[in-house]
Amino acid sequence: MKREVLTKAGLAVLAAALIVAGGLPLLRHRRFDVPVVMGPGVARVERLSAYAPGVARTIADTNVFVLEGREPGGKAVLLANTHANEPEGLLAALVVVENAVVEKGTVYVIPTFNASGGRNTKPGDGYPLYFHLQTDWGTKTFRMGNRDASPLDQWPDPDVYIHYPDRQLLSYIDARNTNRTWPGRPNGLLMERVTYGAMELIRREAVDVAIDIHGAETMFPVTNCIVAPEKSMRIATLAALTVKAAEGFESHVEPSPVSFRGLSHREIGDHASALPFLLEAPTPFLDQPTGPKTEKLLLDGRDPFLLSLAKKKMLFVPYDESGWPLEKRVGQHLSLILEILRQFGKKNPERSIVLKDVPRYADLVRNGVGRYFHDPAAAPKGRVVME
Ligand SMILES: [Zn+2]
Repeated sequence: MKREVLTKAGLAVLAAALIVAGGLPLLRHRRFDVPVVMGPGVARVERLSAYAPGVARTIADTNVFVLEGREPGGKAVLLANTHANEPEGLLAALVVVENAVVEKGTVYVIPTFNASGGRNTKPGDGYPLYFHLQTDWGTKTFRMGNRDASPLDQWPDPDVYIHYPDRQLLSYIDARNTNRTWPGRPNGLLMERVTYGAMELIRREAVDVAIDIHGAETMFPVTNCIVAPEKSMRIATLAALTVKAAEGFESHVEPSPVSFRGLSHREIGDHASALPFLLEAPTPFLDQPTGPKTEKLLLDGRDPFLLSLAKKKMLFVPYDESGWPLEKRVGQHLSLILEILRQFGKKNPERSIVLKDVPRYADLVRNGVGRYFHDPAAAPKGRVVME
């Protein structure tokens, strides 16, 4: 009898030790903050809860960097980490925050739009918890997140997710996907409250252009592209043609489907006057048939299995031994953002939004991404925000 009790107690202690040892790195990751140096364009930092009180005091509340121009003009919103396992969006947004000067207009940047997803991971796929960039002043560490919000923050999952307000039936997991919960509602699921906050910002501030920045599998047809609804199509097409001619990279245009609900490129345009765009850069890390999901694969996009699939013409992007490195992905995003804003300004001069000191594709390919992040330890007092 005594021996049995001792065995059970021993097993219970062992199980508790395994839970603590396995859980502590996840807890540390969830609490890890990334310092962001406010660049010369940042006038102030608001919180999403200013537009959606339903996210106040939750992990979903997130920074809204407001970059103001010397001259009034139009307004743009940049959203990144809608899917927090697509870091090229986060990095493009942070390069804008740390470097941009706004000559005209206002730019709202939300670098970690799904803040719960940004503190989540995908243990079943062996995701790295962090990735690191070399900068001129040392190594900068970022959290690698997951596509969806954590069930710790939005639970339980429904059997079927019923989209609001169209009542379209979607997969249960999309209840935690902030690119299925647009346009959201003030008292709905936590992720519906997050998208409602962005919708309210877009409506209240009369935003002209909304750009949602992503990455996508190379085996998925909607990759390396700009997704645009009818009203944004002309500007998307002109931007795609211009970057191809002037900067030498491809990004085709995909029409936003009318009948597939909940997506930013559909709902923002249907529920506000803004022109929405969604940018996809090819992200080999996200493809299923790759080797281990390492930080190296995330950064350089090189994978032998994808290379052999490319030779069989099964990828939707050109792919060779050079992979699809992070600097190309971030560079494409930055050039496309600048080009979309420029094309919008040509059509609407009084509402134009003019950014300077934002690097473009060729700059990123030449210098890498780390070059554009500044040393928080050397930043002026009060100009560092934790993200
Ligand atoms: Zn995405």
